[in-house]
Amino acid sequence: MAVDKVAGMGRIAVIGAGMGAMAAAARLAVAGHRVTVYERTDTYGGGVRRFERDGFAFDTGPGLLPLPAVYRDLFVKTGKEPLEDCVELVQVDPSARHVFADGTQVSLPNASRAGVVTALDEALGAGAGQRWGDFLVRAREAWDRTRRPLLEEPLWPNWQVLAEREPYPSVPHKKLLRTRRAATVTEIGAWELRDERLAAVLESHALAYGLDPRTAPASAAVLPYLEHAFGTWYVRGGMRELARALYERCVQRRVGFVFGAEVTGVLEKDGRAAGVELADGSVAEADFVVAGVAPEALSHPAARAGGGPAPRRCLPSRLTVLLALRGGRPEGAVHRTVVHAADRAAELEGLFGSAPAAPGTVTVLRPDDPALVPDAGHEAVALVSTVPAGSGGPGGAEDMITVAERAVPGLRDRLLWQEVRTPADIAAETGSASGAVPPPALAAAAGALLYPANTGALPGLFTAGGWSHPGGGLPHAGMSGALVAGLIVEGPEFRGSQ
Ligand SMILES: Cc1cc2nc3c(=O)[nH]c(=O)nc-3n(C[C@H](O)[C@H](O)[C@H](O)COP(=O)(O)OP(=O)(O)OC[C@H]3O[C@@H](n4cnc5c(N)ncnc54)[C@H](O)[C@@H]3O)c2cc1C
Repeated sequence: MAVDKVAGMGRIAVIGAGMGAMAAAARLAVAGHRVTVYERTDTYGGGVRRFERDGFAFDTGPGLLPLPAVYRDLFVKTGKEPLEDCVELVQVDPSARHVFADGTQVSLPNASRAGVVTALDEALGAGAGQRWGDFLVRAREAWDRTRRPLLEEPLWPNWQVLAEREPYPSVPHKKLLRTRRAATVTEIGAWELRDERLAAVLESHALAYGLDPRTAPASAAVLPYLEHAFGTWYVRGGMRELARALYERCVQRRVGFVFGAEVTGVLEKDGRAAGVELADGSVAEADFVVAGVAPEALSHPAARAGGGPAPRRCLPSRLTVLLALRGGRPEGAVHRTVVHAADRAAELEGLFGSAPAAPGTVTVLRPDDPALVPDAGHEAVALVSTVPAGSGGPGGAEDMITVAERAVPGLRDRLLWQEVRTPADIAAETGSASGAVPPPALAAAAGALLYPANTGALPGLFTAGGWSHPGGGLPHAGMSGALVAGLIVEGPEFRGSQ
């Protein structure tokens, strides 16, 4: 890569207006580059969308924000107004209520170890809280070991060590003459948590990201740890407000946006990326290209094959049922309730195996937010389930409402109307094949959950967003933007922004 193209100010073409791409765009604009975002739809935010009708509003993408520090840092580094001046962040407390298959329920306080231990002991029996608390200590170790390489730094050239080493310090488990250590989420549940309901709490974190707990590595313990340590957050007005704030920050920093502009390929000149080719046949030249899209969204092979692990395949999607209800949100209703599947084995076989789909775990979201309803006499509730990518129409919606009634009795009687968002809607909004939603990068599992590096095979081409390092989810995709900006501004020697 020519030195002047690394250090100098240049034109940058960004493909897609998803959160990872916009995070890169804002940072690059602040560094003095002339940045233009080419987005194929007519709006920003990618999967972070809102559905509105009759005075009701619903998030159709993520409903909660983990690890807000990533967006706080982005807003500090790109302007005067901190994130909290641009959106209202609210801690969700309790962070979740769990309704288990056997009817037991527990509400877990937000970011409070003592509170969680007490709540679990009371609901599940003495000792359950301690076992979960001890698990969180081990999960913290996994987080400390992977935070830098799997969130804050570009993919290591020797990324194979992340693929091979399990960072979760599992407890030796003696069975007959053999001593084994939990290698998967399910094994942590069975051998360390030793309570089906505690295991269900752990598995629900993996499932919510589309991971099969039977094969997800023990390192997925960082997912509940993240929520526990840094809290669970909601953005007042809906999560789409975060996308709006980021878009507005980009515009303030003079990032140009071209909507309705589908990029069909990356222009290549003299062996490096030189711009983008658009569906209308035009070409936009640039010194650097940042692709913030799923690999299959672009025809140029170099956009697909960055260095490092192969692109992820066969990831699940989400089915979301938006419910407009008569009757106000009751005082004390919990923001997020996880209603666990009656038959977890059938759920997992339907999702990840070849068995027919079975009613699965349903997350019920009931934000306490007047902006989402026409008046106090109505409530907006969203139900979310992980489903196979490409799975058909609204078939599972009725099952989901039935499951959700275990958390919200009388739900169906209050129903004014419902809107179902399928994997096909997610595919239309993001461009990912079959509506697959990528999870964050995780260590171990022979590298199956690692993502390609942010530097593409073609010099001058970089990748941001959920399909490249460090993977999907709002914080991880946001960090990909920081990594790409660092790699462009500082060059290949950039080692992380923290
Ligand atoms: C239903 C749902 C639930 C989710 N739940 C959670 C959650 O609970 N927690 C969490 O942290 N994350 C969650 N996510 C994931 C999170 O929304 C994403 O990881 C995050 O928004 C990052 O997205 P991205 O940067 O990869 O861009 P994407 O959202 O994938 O957007 C890509 C953008 O690129 C555009 N594009 C694609 N191809 C082209 C092209 N050829 N030319 C021009 N533009 C193109 C698309 O139109 C789109 O705007 C969820 C996502 C969905 C859809």
